[in-house]
Amino acid sequence: MDNKLKVNGLTFVPFLREEQIQEQVKRVAGELRRDLEGKSPLFLCVLNGAFIFAADLFREAGINDAEIAFVKYSSYQGTQSTGTVKQIIGLPENIEGRDIVIIEDIVDTGLTADRMISDLKKRNPASVRFATLLHKPESSKTGFVPDYVAFSIPPKFIIGYGLDLDGKVRNLRDIYVNTED
Ligand code: 5GP
Repeated sequence: MDNKLKVNGLTFVPFLREEQIQEQVKRVAGELRRDLEGKSPLFLCVLNGAFIFAADLFREAGINDAEIAFVKYSSYQGTQSTGTVKQIIGLPENIEGRDIVIIEDIVDTGLTADRMISDLKKRNPASVRFATLLHKPESSKTGFVPDYVAFSIPPKFIIGYGLDLDGKVRNLRDIYVNTED
């Protein structure tokens, strides 16, 4: 059977199957349930890539008191000579004293994660935890280590289960890897 997938001229092959993904989602959800016992956490799903992982993880965690919000890192042009500035949009007004769980699709260099955590900490939450579907430790430029990782993977380009190529193929239930990497 030919499992190859062509997207925008690039070739991909299956890397992580739906069953494996769901198994690890359950494991991470169990860790979160254990660590957040007795709390009313606020999950922050980082759009767009994390939306499918967040939906599965949030339900598997089974914390009835948990809330979820959907945030996005948006770039805008600074008014001065600041160049491009990144800002989190969609964050609830007041997160003071809240136990935050950031849900990301993938940590590559770690720059986005580092930046997001330091921005959130300025708003005085009680705690900030970071859960990611995928982590590429060899690509790290910051030494950032996520608290919860479903899969550690080599520094290759991945698609599916929410992750895109030019906005496409987020619908795939399995995760695929680019063979040209
Ligand atoms: P970082 O700041 O950690 O370098 O960037 C993380 C972001 O880069 C992710 O949220 C994702 O949007 C994008 N990214 C990094 N690696 C991949 C990959 O293998 N596949 C896809 N689709 N996006 C990636």
